[in-house]
Amino acid sequence: MKAVQLVKFGEPREALRYTDLPDPAPGPGDVLVKIEAAGVCGRDLVVRKGAFPHVKPPVVPGHEGVGKVVEVGPGVERDVVGSRVFLSAIYDGTCDYCRRGFENLCRNAELLGESRNGTYAEYVVLPARFVHPFHGVDPRVAVVATCPLATAVYTLRHVDVEGRRVLVVGAGGTGVYIAQLAKVRGGEVYISTRSPEKAATLRQLGLEVAAEGDKDFDVVIDTVGSPTLERSLKLARRAGSVVVIGNVTGERASLSPALVILRQLKVLGSMAFRPWDIYEALDLLKRGLIKPLYAEYRLQDAARAHEDMEREMVVGRAVLIP
Ligand SMILES: [Zn+2]
Ligand SMILES: [Zn+2]
Repeated sequence: MKAVQLVKFGEPREALRYTDLPDPAPGPGDVLVKIEAAGVCGRDLVVRKGAFPHVKPPVVPGHEGVGKVVEVGPGVERDVVGSRVFLSAIYDGTCDYCRRGFENLCRNAELLGESRNGTYAEYVVLPARFVHPFHGVDPRVAVVATCPLATAVYTLRHVDVEGRRVLVVGAGGTGVYIAQLAKVRGGEVYISTRSPEKAATLRQLGLEVAAEGDKDFDVVIDTVGSPTLERSLKLARRAGSVVVIGNVTGERASLSPALVILRQLKVLGSMAFRPWDIYEALDLLKRGLIKPLYAEYRLQDAARAHEDMEREMVVGRAVLIP
């Protein structure tokens, strides 16, 4: 099969190689999925730079994917063959976190594209429990639900935005979805970006771009991380909330504890999402409440997709089509 492999850590064109790999075969309990569309996550860029010690090249990157089940391994009912599915993270379902409903925090989680081959490929194999059937949404659009919009759904479970002034910091693949969903949920929503071109596009999409000097937000959702975190704390009003969901550079941040104390801020993290958040995301797309923003690339152009994302040239999700 054709696939893109992460052969070493570094810049997109030296790290990502379009190549031929043996077709994977489903083992007991597995399914083989023919990928129709794969998303390029901000996390993939951090993986490519070598920030996660558990990732050991060569590996096929990518955890976001939609496709069709084409074969099953021993022990899996054949009636799933032919179904269109989205893929989710792999969790054990039995650890203390899973049992408390935090499958996203599973002690034994495995991410496609990191500890096993992922979705930048024509085919991927994974345990049957982690493919989820759906219909009624185009595969390229559905990719948007599999991570960015599902992340938005899960993030907004932690904070109430109805009637509140909300700032989304960063207009990357996830930020534009959080901003859209926070509007759907009744927030007065602003988004910030350092790219003037992107600001113009966001305005065309009906999003309010935060102006220099805007402050006193009830809720600040930071999708960037260390470069913006201290500023995000300063932009929150007293007794406001700051939700941290992005770690784009993987670097450490330094900030003053006084900011958190004197403003009595709630600072909380939110980590990815659970599989059923993806169903809610698909439903939002089906009902036309969220605009599916994405840019299509051929699989062999994965390195270019990474470069375009780093230059902030992509609005919404970069989607690879094998
Ligand atoms: Zn993702
Ligand atoms: Zn678990």
